[in-house]
Amino acid sequence: MPSILQVALDTPLHRLFDYRLPDGLGAVPPGTLLEVPFGRARQIGVVLGPQADSAVQTDKLRDVIRVLADRPALSPEILRLAQFCADYYHYPLGAILLATLPPRLKNATPFVAETPWLAVTEAGQAAKPVARAHAQRTLLDALRTAPQSRSVLRERKQGRHATALVAAGWAAWSRVPPPAADAPRTAEAPPATAEQQAAFETLLPALGQFGVHLIHGVTGSGKTELYLRLIDAVLARGLQALVLIPEIALTPQLEQHFRRRFPGRRFATLHSGLAEKDRAENWLAAPDCDVLLGTRLSVFAPLPRLGLIVVDEEHDASFKQQDGLRYSARDVAIARGKQCGVPVVLGSATPSLESYAQATTGRYRLIELKQRAISQARLPAIELVDLKHIPLDNGLTRPAVQALTEILARGEQSLVFLNRRGYAPALYCPSCAWVSPCPRCSARLVLHRTSHRLKCHHCGFETRIPSACPSCGNPDLKALGQGTQRLEETLAALLPAARIRRIDRDTMRPRAWAELGAAVHGGEVDILLGTQMLAKGHDFPNMTLALILDTDGALYSPDFRATERLFAQLMQVSGRAGRADKPGRVLIQTAFPDHPLFRYLQRHDFAGYARALLAERRQLDLPPFTRQILLRAEAPTMEAGLAFLQRAAALAPDTADVSVFSATPAPMARVANLERAQLLIQSASRLALQAFVRDWRPLLDSIKPRVARWSLDVDPLVF
Ligand code: ADP
Ligand code: ZN
Ligand code: ZN
Repeated sequence: MPSILQVALDTPLHRLFDYRLPDGLGAVPPGTLLEVPFGRARQIGVVLGPQADSAVQTDKLRDVIRVLADRPALSPEILRLAQFCADYYHYPLGAILLATLPPRLKNATPFVAETPWLAVTEAGQAAKPVARAHAQRTLLDALRTAPQSRSVLRERKQGRHATALVAAGWAAWSRVPPPAADAPRTAEAPPATAEQQAAFETLLPALGQFGVHLIHGVTGSGKTELYLRLIDAVLARGLQALVLIPEIALTPQLEQHFRRRFPGRRFATLHSGLAEKDRAENWLAAPDCDVLLGTRLSVFAPLPRLGLIVVDEEHDASFKQQDGLRYSARDVAIARGKQCGVPVVLGSATPSLESYAQATTGRYRLIELKQRAISQARLPAIELVDLKHIPLDNGLTRPAVQALTEILARGEQSLVFLNRRGYAPALYCPSCAWVSPCPRCSARLVLHRTSHRLKCHHCGFETRIPSACPSCGNPDLKALGQGTQRLEETLAALLPAARIRRIDRDTMRPRAWAELGAAVHGGEVDILLGTQMLAKGHDFPNMTLALILDTDGALYSPDFRATERLFAQLMQVSGRAGRADKPGRVLIQTAFPDHPLFRYLQRHDFAGYARALLAERRQLDLPPFTRQILLRAEAPTMEAGLAFLQRAAALAPDTADVSVFSATPAPMARVANLERAQLLIQSASRLALQAFVRDWRPLLDSIKPRVARWSLDVDPLVF
């Protein structure tokens, strides 16, 4: 009897595949990675297990090409987590399993991981090299103090002695620097505040079992410090901590902060900004690390001794992937914690209403930090500038300019927040009202003056700035509205003495954050101007003014989450002002000063606004009181997209408690030459909704005519 394996492959098909394992390829426990023939090509697959009776005729079965022995098998824990995702997100298991791997390990080319560190083994600690092996003894002594890197050994021409020590079993190469024996802590923990201590004491007994704990702490309340203490406790038990952070370039900073606190510990980071090789190295190192710090994709990292998961800024939209497997890393983290009996700590100054509602009903434990950790630091005063009465000049009001001038005169720093990158949101023809449309999207082309281009921020389309109106030939085209580049120009003209730094996706390279932080701390910047990239993570003691421009769009947006998001953003930006001993001031320009959002904001009352929004959501049957799934379709014409969705709706099983809405064009109807339509499914019962989609999804494959693309989005955040 040949042995037959059940294998998961990265295909859109919701099924598994059988392959025959030729003799002599070695052991293949579940999770093993293989190369197999698929159609006329080859694919990497994941073994799920032996297949006792294959439905495929034995002579039709194809042979496994080889076992990829250069990389570890996926652990049973990761297989289980992927199965959860397959069931919950209605996505093919094979595609999920392969998505958990770093790209470099998804091709069959052998991967030789570097093992750059030489460390003493237990045998080496006690060993006594013979007296004449002088150089070996010197190296062994050095290793007993600290691991040595391969490159340093090479420089010192100690490579030969290293090899000898390894051969003797006294030293070993490893991927991560093992902790040096009793290395001193380079950064001492500050004494905990009363609130931090109370929170810590509540959480400590919760370690060792599953539970979700939501830390709602105002900006500057020292949430990070609380995570560090919890992580310390987990590491002391010999377990690992996984820390998930938003998808912005803050990793290097946080990593440094963590490393300084735990100098003897092994760190690994995972995020999409890493080079493929480094990402593969770090993924391979994850099982041996003490702390893994990373963005959403790290939720799938192999961590055999996991003892704690922290999701920092848990409300952040970047935890949700917006294509392929549209998972929420926060929710998958909770599933993972549940599967392996590990506590999950969510933290935010502005929790998502989803998490906050769970905390108020007691399903998650709510832990509040209401005071800033540095006792003198007070929350800033928030003032509104009423645009109905005060005119704008190039996007700025007089009070705003005055405030900036005063701060500059005092030698303090300001932050100016404008969530629009580029020079201006559009180019405009005053004679025929042409407004730079993107030829491929229902969007405007954004004017980027420094690069002399018009760019679409949705599909990436770019073109030169026309010298005359393409529609009527008028050569006098005008910039419409304000972007960060234009504002930078305006500010430079108004305040010539100010040193201005602009931060947005056009100016920021991932590593530039550390440099920027140093420049702001060093007082080399007077005005920091930027988009939402500015909203989080930074702690600048001399920054005493936050100026917020043009956020009114969210107040009349049809997206029911727009006000939740705006409130969070404004609280986060406000939190940047006056963090140390200097009081802060926040100025918001708005044409809707009477909107309730501002009343709560001025009182720094997140809980109050959350309650108000939740009451509204409950009344309107919106999440978190209902669960939603969105069927998205993209087609060359809107008619085709809608027709597909109407067929889908007609095939919907008739399930109690599940509502199927009408197919509609997406709010952003055309992107990259495809029309987008959507169909909303909603239910108060998650189980009913899951059961509904389980029956419904297979039927969607059969709909004719097909569309260019369709996908299911479970718990959609963006419509
Ligand atoms: P959050 O993440 O809640 O916004 P942080 O953890 O960044 O807050 O802490 C804000 C500031 O307070 C940081 O400068 C931090 O070093 C400081 N801090 C935190 N906890 C303490 C403490 N117990 N004693 C003194 N300073 C603290
Ligand atoms: Zn024109
Ligand atoms: Zn476009």
